[in-house]
Amino acid sequence: MALRLAHGKIAQVLPQAAFESLPASALPVTDLDGSTVLSAFVDPHVHLDKGDLCAAGLAPERDLFTAITRVRDDYARWSAEELTRRMEFALRSAYAHGTRALNSYCDWSVPQGPLAWRVLQDLRTQWAGRVDLTITSLAPIAELDDATIAATIAATVAEGGGVLGWFIYPGAPMHLLPRAFDLAQRHDLRLDFHVDEHLDPPQANLGAVARLAHERDWGARTVCGHACVLAALEPAAREALLNDVAASGLGLVSLPWTNLYLQDNGSGPTEGRRRTPSRRGLLPVHEVRARGIPLAFASDNHRDPFFPGGDLDPLQTLSLAALAAQLDEPIRDWADTITCQGARLLHLSWDGVLREGAPADLVIHPGRDSVEVVSRPTRGRRVLRSGQWLAPADALPPDFRELDGLRRAA
Ligand SMILES: [Zn+2]
Repeated sequence: MALRLAHGKIAQVLPQAAFESLPASALPVTDLDGSTVLSAFVDPHVHLDKGDLCAAGLAPERDLFTAITRVRDDYARWSAEELTRRMEFALRSAYAHGTRALNSYCDWSVPQGPLAWRVLQDLRTQWAGRVDLTITSLAPIAELDDATIAATIAATVAEGGGVLGWFIYPGAPMHLLPRAFDLAQRHDLRLDFHVDEHLDPPQANLGAVARLAHERDWGARTVCGHACVLAALEPAAREALLNDVAASGLGLVSLPWTNLYLQDNGSGPTEGRRRTPSRRGLLPVHEVRARGIPLAFASDNHRDPFFPGGDLDPLQTLSLAALAAQLDEPIRDWADTITCQGARLLHLSWDGVLREGAPADLVIHPGRDSVEVVSRPTRGRRVLRSGQWLAPADALPPDFRELDGLRRAA
């Protein structure tokens, strides 16, 4: 295949034979020698506000709720300057890896309102056209019990052009869920849920979200992340739940880094010595895709108490998923999970399909097939944005040493 680029867009997509038969032209030609060409990446589930808290002195935890508590305890030490440093570091990394759009959650700390929300708003303006930011509020669903707080969150999100997000956890007050849909419909907002980030079938709540999204005809505007519990359900129960999700039209996001790290991680009062996990927090992606449910992979946490690793690199995420979920042909058959599917879930203006007229926003990897790409996902990658290679200073992720002294500077 050959692409002709002009004015920052794909002007023509040609089969190789047709390209070779064209008369010689004065235009520069780059021979990619069989390299893999992908649409620039979309990362629909990232926590920029928490990113690199390890560099700020917080330790990784092995349990979701302990990590949540550690981060909440840390809110008081967050400043606009420190948040900006951590978030810009992440955005520069994502941009270097070839990401063109990402969705960041923003913890909604009640009652003072999120400082991080304002910082993210500023960064969205500054980074527009490089990494287009969607910003999603993230509050526990229990906050819907206070009509004033809930209305304030929804109004702020609507004013800031964001997405209304809620955290649904085991034992959550699910009778409040209809209020999330009420607010979304009143303000014409998309909805996003962190749901079922656990492996305890009796505590599954994804079905309630799916059924309500279906009832309210809001499925195409609803995304659910995690849903790890699907991995723990008996086959018949899993099938029934996936059928409800498919009927609703909502999309799912799988977060392999954090959920392979956090789930069945041997934490808790009865646990002592380290042990090897046997139950994995992996969304059953084959079964999800088989039902036509929109599915994207995403980064989730990076270098914070939830996960001491990650670098906001969708191609590395897909390479991990290829192993963890046993994906055959991850590049040929699953690359859309880090490109087009995320674009669909975020309602972006470009769907990520490489066609004539599309932006020339490309990631080019020297690997010629799935085996070569996932074996060396980070080696030799080049990123083209609006038809131009990234400048050398932008083409490498920043050095971790830039984060030294984070807390002292804050
Ligand atoms: Zn998350």
